[in-house]
Amino acid sequence: MEKQTILVYLETAEDQVIKVSLEALNAARQLAAKTGKNVTAVLIGSAAAAGAAAAYGADEVVHVAADSYQADRYTEILTALYQRAEASALLLGSGRDGKELAARVAARVGAGCVTDAMALAEDGSWVRSVYGGSLQESVDAGVGAVVTVRSGTFGKPEETAGRTVPVTEETVENSELKAVIKEAVQELSESVNLEDAEVIVAGGRGMGSAENFQLVRDLAELLGGVVGASRPAIEDGWVPRNHQVGQSGKIVAPKLYIACGISGAMQHVSGMSGSGYIVAINKDEDAPIFDVADVGIVGNVMDILPLMIEEIKARKS
Ligand SMILES: Cc1cc2nc3c(=O)[nH]c(=O)nc-3n(C[C@H](O)[C@H](O)[C@H](O)COP(=O)(O)OP(=O)(O)OC[C@H]3O[C@@H](n4cnc5c(N)ncnc54)[C@H](O)[C@@H]3O)c2cc1C
Repeated sequence: MEKQTILVYLETAEDQVIKVSLEALNAARQLAAKTGKNVTAVLIGSAAAAGAAAAYGADEVVHVAADSYQADRYTEILTALYQRAEASALLLGSGRDGKELAARVAARVGAGCVTDAMALAEDGSWVRSVYGGSLQESVDAGVGAVVTVRSGTFGKPEETAGRTVPVTEETVENSELKAVIKEAVQELSESVNLEDAEVIVAGGRGMGSAENFQLVRDLAELLGGVVGASRPAIEDGWVPRNHQVGQSGKIVAPKLYIACGISGAMQHVSGMSGSGYIVAINKDEDAPIFDVADVGIVGNVMDILPLMIEEIKARKS
């Protein structure tokens, strides 16, 4: 492994690099362009994504065989690799595991930690938003910083099909773990993947009831998308918690986001403002959601959603 390389931990799901990890790789490439360092992609568990890491711009790949995700063990591995490489930075996606690992590794190696970075500033500091998106700050965490990259901000790096790079097998001693996961059971409702969705149809309090919320599901299904929701829709039990978009939910960046009966509170908008194209339906023409929308439809969701569904069905047939 190259010394003083920029390490990027690539989280995978079913042997594919998840979208936010590819964005972390893109951020690493940008940092490499500024610093002249190499980019080393780290794969833990399966090495099946080594080809993708190369195609998306890693200079080398390091693979460590391990069982499925376990915070203590993965922290131990990343800490060891960081120390062996005397890493000039460690980047991770702000995904399911990324923030947990970032905090742990940074604490162990004594590095600065920046979460939810949205851009790399000219002077090499990391730009992130705070207070639910109402302020932006630039953080210089110094050489060796551990940084998580916010979904939808850096975009995917350019792909060069067929590119190959060296893949090195590393081993990291497995010390006695403080906690051992005996069994992981995936709930059916957990299978929702808002972060990687290209289309999200989200409903808010303005949908009025669990029955009405079915229109959001119908439109999402018709568009091949995923259902999102504001916090009140979750709290009223219309949709499970893992569909929540926003500051205390998921940060999403689909190509299309359709907000139905959502006012556009800062805590919601901070989770979806990175979407490519935003359509908002709200009966209040002054609703703040229209400030971030590309297309705003003023009207009752109970009139508009059935019309949209009917029209899309007609066009599809
Ligand atoms: C610390 C903290 C964290 C939070 N985290 C999150 C978060 O992660 N995600 C999140 O979403 N919220 C979060 N919130 C809550 C947030 O502040 C808002 O209360 C919430 O986003 C509002 O949801 P809403 O837009 O669905 O509801 P409301 O603000 O009540 O808006 C409903 C909207 O629907 C419209 N409407 C009503 N009826 C109709 C109709 N028939 N047709 C069309 N439009 C209609 C209304 O005009 C209104 O604009 C958080 C709050 C705090 C304090």
